[in-house]
Amino acid sequence: MDEHAGGTAPTDAPEHERWVEERLAALTLAQKVSLLSGADSWRTPAIESAGIPAVKVTDGPNGARGDAVSGASAACFPVGTALGATWNPALLEEVGVALAEECRSKSAQVLLAPTVNIQRTPLAGRNFECYSEDPYLTAQLAVSFISGLQGEGVGACIKHFAGNESEFERMSINSVIDERALREVYLLPFEQAVAHARPWSVMGAYNRLNGEYACANRRLLVDILKTEWGFDGLVISDWGAVYDTVDSARGGCDLEMPGPALHFGDRLVAAVEAGEVDATEIDDKARRVLRLVARSGRIQRPDEDPERSDVRPEHRALARRVAAESMVLLTNRPPDGAADAVPVLPLAPDRLRTVAVIGPNAERASIMGGGSSIVRAHHQVHPLAALRERLGPDVSVVHAAGGAIDRYVPEPRSTWFAPLDEGGRGLRVDYFATDDVSAVPQTGGDPFGSRLVRSVSWVWWFPPDGAPAGPWGVRWTGTLVPDATGPWTMGIAAIGRARVLLDGEVVVDNWTAPEPGGLFFGSGSLEVTGAPVLEAGREYDLRVEFQYEPASERDRAAIRFGIRPPEPTDPVADATAVAAAADAAIVIVGTNGDWETEGSDRVDLRLPGRQDELIRSVAAANPRTVVVLNTGSPVEMPWIDQVPATLQAWFGGQELGDALADVLVGDADPGGRLPTTFPVRYEDNPTLLEYPGEFGQVRYVESVFVGHRAYDKRAIEPLFPFGHGLSYARFDLGAPVVTDAASSSSAMAGPDTAAQPATRFTVTVPVTNVGDRPGQTVVQLYVRPARPSVARPPQELKGFAKVALDPGATATATVTLDTRSFAHFDPARRAWVAEAGRYDLAIGTSSRSVVHVVPVTLTDTVVLPA
Ligand code: BGC
Repeated sequence: MDEHAGGTAPTDAPEHERWVEERLAALTLAQKVSLLSGADSWRTPAIESAGIPAVKVTDGPNGARGDAVSGASAACFPVGTALGATWNPALLEEVGVALAEECRSKSAQVLLAPTVNIQRTPLAGRNFECYSEDPYLTAQLAVSFISGLQGEGVGACIKHFAGNESEFERMSINSVIDERALREVYLLPFEQAVAHARPWSVMGAYNRLNGEYACANRRLLVDILKTEWGFDGLVISDWGAVYDTVDSARGGCDLEMPGPALHFGDRLVAAVEAGEVDATEIDDKARRVLRLVARSGRIQRPDEDPERSDVRPEHRALARRVAAESMVLLTNRPPDGAADAVPVLPLAPDRLRTVAVIGPNAERASIMGGGSSIVRAHHQVHPLAALRERLGPDVSVVHAAGGAIDRYVPEPRSTWFAPLDEGGRGLRVDYFATDDVSAVPQTGGDPFGSRLVRSVSWVWWFPPDGAPAGPWGVRWTGTLVPDATGPWTMGIAAIGRARVLLDGEVVVDNWTAPEPGGLFFGSGSLEVTGAPVLEAGREYDLRVEFQYEPASERDRAAIRFGIRPPEPTDPVADATAVAAAADAAIVIVGTNGDWETEGSDRVDLRLPGRQDELIRSVAAANPRTVVVLNTGSPVEMPWIDQVPATLQAWFGGQELGDALADVLVGDADPGGRLPTTFPVRYEDNPTLLEYPGEFGQVRYVESVFVGHRAYDKRAIEPLFPFGHGLSYARFDLGAPVVTDAASSSSAMAGPDTAAQPATRFTVTVPVTNVGDRPGQTVVQLYVRPARPSVARPPQELKGFAKVALDPGATATATVTLDTRSFAHFDPARRAWVAEAGRYDLAIGTSSRSVVHVVPVTLTDTVVLPA
């Protein structure tokens, strides 16, 4: 396997362990147990009398958010798939270092990152947070990211352990995964991270794995993670993933989050006293919490500082570089009918007078996905503004959105509300202690709280101030003054019941029969819409009602209300006319954090709205059309042959706009390679028959044939294969040289242990830039077993090296292979087995662009116990 770039995890000082043992010895059972649940959403509890400070954690993974999105701003880095697309472990280490600095600005000692679940189905809502469909690539990147972060003294919390590959029924689904797939695919990134980067903590997932909840899964947490892998850190539950007391405690979960205690706390003390949980297990958990406290540096600096917005130029520069290095140039050819054979990209600004920047994501791109990873970015650079700036005053940049892509009806504009007597445009909100807010008299009604707001949408993580113990309801009232005549779409969704009334008439009813939907991390109702026809300038009494009914001990409440005005024109035709009159058209299409989000999966692989039609129409009107995909994961591209250039730009973080301009004009090479296969159509993907699952379980029947391994096995031609990506340069891969350490006198093979596998082969490949621009390429090495005794993928990625070269320059790409590079997992022997025999090393620039095949032979079968 490749050397892991840089950063070694700090070894624990002996005084840490002494401090841990001294504190542990001085604590009562109740005190020890109190350490095992959060103090609040983000902190472990402090025990001041015992000199034990709190530790603060923060999400994660593309920024360090701090306590709340409404708090101090944060640097927003490109999301997981974009990092995966860099294929650059050293760069991920730099991101880890920067995020450690960001954590410090939020006074947090642990970042809830990285997310290393595998992109099993292209529909999974959180794919954008994960690096790749490939376990080896994911593991390499995770090790470097954690090393960068922890090298700076901030802990990682690698997540979600394990089998959390989609959002469907995410709090309960049982992922049924066979042992080989578990070991070779889904556990591998965790295993490699524990072995090579020693993360301070691991987050247990929401789902069940082979029948047991992940946070109560003794086999997973105790037998494999803590015993077999020797993990000495803390197992933290995902937020709300502890569902009981005894099984979770015995199953190996150490810290129940968030706090205060629900299933641990007093219930756990009682379970110990009743002999259901052993006191030594409590000691082990408390020891792990204390170890985290010791590692965190809080003993020396127990006080928490206020959160700061720490805007650093070097973080901006890094985020921009990473975003550019993640962009994957999928296609690039000369425009139809062009006199010369020059591809469309990079753009030559001095030959352009007018550029049309089209698309719903042009003016405001999606810089991150939805859910717990959201941060309030320090600032955001969007494509339209960045291209205007970069192309300068001599190029006229014209824009048309070409339509909308909202999954839910967007928030209303405050200009549609009449000013209230109390001042300002908006709505009055009143809270009532009632089990039926719709029956509260329209005036008076004795609210327990009232205020003015600009928006109805809200999540109550905790009950509102002054709320009674029982049910409560909320009413928003105001005057709506439409500025156009026609159908005004209104949408409402909630955790609870909600409805919209205009002039006393119900126009949207999500009250009578709310159905479960994907909003609010999967806890909300489906959005219900209505489209009353309204007259411009007329005043309408608007009333929105929401009823909360507590169902469980820690229920949240939420509402989302949106209004969309009538669409006056045909946006596709308008955009096409704009594009037709320009010298080049850049069409920035995509999804957003409502489509790609924690809490719900995507519904299909199509670009939402009329974007496919928009692309076709613009491409027909302008031969120099470039499509930029602003998505977190693959989409179908039925128009691909009609467009000369297509660039995958991901959710590229706060500097996305500038990074995109850098790549489009050629200031930066598109350095990304696909970390996941892009299928021609959804039906080609290997989980088709076993996603999302039914009757509470999802069987991973494709086993080890995940992602590109499945496309290879089934000989399905993808739209773009795993590892694919073009450069503005061209590269020549010279003849590889393979050195067999076992037969080489100069290289002595060391002992084969799980943590330190001995190098078997060193493969060097001379790489020359034969193009006329600087550029980057990724040399990829796939191992093909010639005659395996078990079912194996035709080839598995086992090494890669990214190379950046100026025109004419040559460098050597080096990949090392160890026993594990050839091994499968043998469940009967509980061991990794590298069978004797021939293997072909396939070396190339994607899983389907293999340039050299070199056979090697393992003379003996090697067995490495797990
Ligand atoms: C997510 C975790 C996240 C946690 C805290 C959960 O909903 O699954 O990834 O770290 O919330 O926000």
